[in-house]
Amino acid sequence: MTQRTQLEQELLAKAAQYLPGSSTGNTSYPDELKFLVREGNGGRVWDVSGNEYIDWLMGSGPMILGHAHPAVTEAVLSAVGRGSTFFTTNEQAVMLAEELVNAVPCAEQVRFTTSGTDACFQAMRVARAFTGKEKILKFEGGFHGTSDYAMMSVFGSAANEFPQAEANSGGIPRALNDLMLISQFNDLETTAAIIDAHKDEIAAVIVEPMQRSLAPVPGFLAGLRKLTADANLLLIFDEVVTGFRLAYGGAQEYYGVTPDLCSVGKIMGGGYPLAATMGRADVMSVYDRAAVSSDDYVDQIGTLNGNPIACAAGLATLSELRKDGVYDRLHAVGGRLRQALAQACQDQGLLVQSVGEDAVFDIYFSDHPIQNYRDGLTADAATLGRLNAGLLERRIIKSWPQKFYTSIAHTDDDVDETIAAIQAVVPTLRS
Ligand code: PMP
Repeated sequence: MTQRTQLEQELLAKAAQYLPGSSTGNTSYPDELKFLVREGNGGRVWDVSGNEYIDWLMGSGPMILGHAHPAVTEAVLSAVGRGSTFFTTNEQAVMLAEELVNAVPCAEQVRFTTSGTDACFQAMRVARAFTGKEKILKFEGGFHGTSDYAMMSVFGSAANEFPQAEANSGGIPRALNDLMLISQFNDLETTAAIIDAHKDEIAAVIVEPMQRSLAPVPGFLAGLRKLTADANLLLIFDEVVTGFRLAYGGAQEYYGVTPDLCSVGKIMGGGYPLAATMGRADVMSVYDRAAVSSDDYVDQIGTLNGNPIACAAGLATLSELRKDGVYDRLHAVGGRLRQALAQACQDQGLLVQSVGEDAVFDIYFSDHPIQNYRDGLTADAATLGRLNAGLLERRIIKSWPQKFYTSIAHTDDDVDETIAAIQAVVPTLRS
């Protein structure tokens, strides 16, 4: 058991008292394994008691360069000395917008937000304003933040029939269920049928090009592109996770399919509160009061949108990511870990499905391929929980329940130690 000092125990008790759900962020860790982070560096973090962890959570994705990367820290310190927010267009935001347009295939124009939730929400609203239609099609199990529209059928129950949307949070007006249509990830046939039946009402299809840790099957994204173009709907890629991770140009570069709009967050803010909605200039023109009628105009203001410090962190992060060999390293680190994980399970006769791409991946304990949310429901979640807990007890952190996030800061030692922990935990998993 990891030892906790009195201070950490007291702070954990205060977290339980003052923070509902004991959390400022991730709520998935079981209570008995919760810890309080004090600091991070490279691929490691330390808790308040001074215990060291190898971190494959990496802030849930943003920390692709590792914690406290010197170039990012330097850029932030320099920006901080020049003022922290202005509520008017600032130098760093314009420079970052230009770089985002250079990097991401669909991006001709950019609107900044402070969270991926807001960026996805904006993309859906923009699609409605541009098309004059109200419904959005999303995929069961897909996560696009926590807005009222996004929290539909994220944890849908298998009893629910398509295309019935199910609000997955208290406080969401049930009337909104009628505005969301639900299909299955990697299932073009169902999606085509829903689009065909509702094309006059659907503004857009929103999809994570890699849904959580599930990669698209060949042809799925290209099929979505064709279906949406043929029916005159917009295609939105939620690239909050995949943007600047699978490749510099995100999943749209990696899989070679260009949507009309996308949301990005996490990496592009370098670990600071920044995200963006981007896309075709004609669509983004709904943000321009001079370009559209007052009915179509989308007013999007936010005190900290395009915050100069966050933009400086983003610019520094992207500049590191443009260096030679960065993505090769990122994928190589994940590739080794992924292979070792699958091998360790196979050696124990545990049937697993390796999912995702090397830069973000995981396994399902299952004897059949996992291609969508419902496939995932049939996998053995209890064994995965025991793997996650076993790794955390050995001070290896990953996203719960699913996802290892790699970074270029992880050293070969980090990978070796993680593989050793995997090899120690996996033999204990048979119940
Ligand atoms: N979309 C996806 C695919 C995500 O994974 C997340 C967050 N993990 C979001 C949107 C929401 O982003 P944020 O947490 O910045 O609101």
